[in-house]
Amino acid sequence: MTKSKITRETAKKLDRTDELSIYKSEFYTKDSTYYMDGNSLGLLSKRAERTLMTSLEDWKTYGIDGWTEGKQPWFYMSEQIGEMTAPLIGAKAHEVINTGSITANLHQLLASFYKPDGKRTKIIADELNFPSDIYALKSQIDLHGLQPSAHLIQVESQDGYTLSEDNIIAQMDEEVALLLLPSVLYRSGQLLDIEKITKAAHDQGIIVGFDLAHSIGALPHHLNDWDVDFAVWCTYKYLNSGPGGVGGLYVHEKHLGKKPGLAGWFSSKKEKQFDMEHELTPAETAGAYQMGTPHILSSAPLLGSLEIFHEAGIKSIREKSLALTRMMMNLIHQELPDYGFQLANPLEDERRGGHICLLHPEAASICKALKEENVIPDFRSPNVIRLAPIALYISFEDVYDVTLILKGIMENEKHKRFKNERGIIA
Ligand SMILES: *Cc1c(COP(=O)(O)O)cnc(C)c1O
Repeated sequence: MTKSKITRETAKKLDRTDELSIYKSEFYTKDSTYYMDGNSLGLLSKRAERTLMTSLEDWKTYGIDGWTEGKQPWFYMSEQIGEMTAPLIGAKAHEVINTGSITANLHQLLASFYKPDGKRTKIIADELNFPSDIYALKSQIDLHGLQPSAHLIQVESQDGYTLSEDNIIAQMDEEVALLLLPSVLYRSGQLLDIEKITKAAHDQGIIVGFDLAHSIGALPHHLNDWDVDFAVWCTYKYLNSGPGGVGGLYVHEKHLGKKPGLAGWFSSKKEKQFDMEHELTPAETAGAYQMGTPHILSSAPLLGSLEIFHEAGIKSIREKSLALTRMMMNLIHQELPDYGFQLANPLEDERRGGHICLLHPEAASICKALKEENVIPDFRSPNVIRLAPIALYISFEDVYDVTLILKGIMENEKHKRFKNERGIIA
């Protein structure tokens, strides 16, 4: 590599021309703290705080009438947030609804789309996905009276961190009913080729679902154009909705207008809901996949948070995010060649999500040392340090500082004072 040396001045220069730098002051960041964990829990913005407080005020002022009369009427909030989310994933407004959590939404969509029939009974997933997704798949296979050991195919990884699209495609045949994969892998940050996988699956008659936990709010998607059948996501990561913030789901419009697998009164067409009939008339939108009363106070922050995404633009967010992770990787090569670190995330822009994945045998103790120096990393057992420079509130100079802090820890062996073990939450 013949790259010129990256200095603090290089970073400052990039910050000066960064059009997204104005958003940092909209977030509750702490001076001299470097929050590199926005891919686990995004920070609170002032706008999200404002819309949450408005919903509380609506409750205070209107009581029950807040459902229809409030400043942010609760009865339509899930649809409204769905509409605001749609551009982030390349969907049409009626294909998206704000509801549930990833796991609950996966259960709903598997109950709706996983229909084992004759020889076609299997599900393709991967061996690297987040456990909750795999638990949901196994319990749905169980519910059909089938054995997960025979009906769940978990595509193997060659290196323990990434997947090969060709290996995924090689598993597709007429015995597979459905495929569920992450868009971005939660540990290594690998971005899969959603379009290529979807096309190959459809050629074999397989229904395609994606879990966008680590890509929504980090990069653009074109789910409707790519013909993805369904998707789920959470909003407390890149979308900054707060702890337990309400997630979302997408169903391609070609599947709309049917009864959901798991129905409830909020699955109803809105004008019919209060007729209180025992025969459900489902909404003709993705709203049909809701079940019970929406969690308004855990949705309201999204009204404010999503405004920021619209103003900033997901394309600009992605461009800055790629520049930040690229600079971080280059700085690690430049400053930390001697300490046994290894990058496990793909290096190419088109295969990388919003975080980098640094491997080290002493990752747990290094993360504790980073925290003591006001850098908030994310440790994944046994040897993974995830660092997410979030485009909306991390600057290029922050990335420079974090790398130098890490270098200082390694040079002075500051991590040796900590046990190389994980805490309860990691
Ligand atoms: C964060 C995450 C989850 C969490 O699921 P919840 O139901 O929202 O708790 C599930 N799957 C993936 C891939 C994740 O990254």
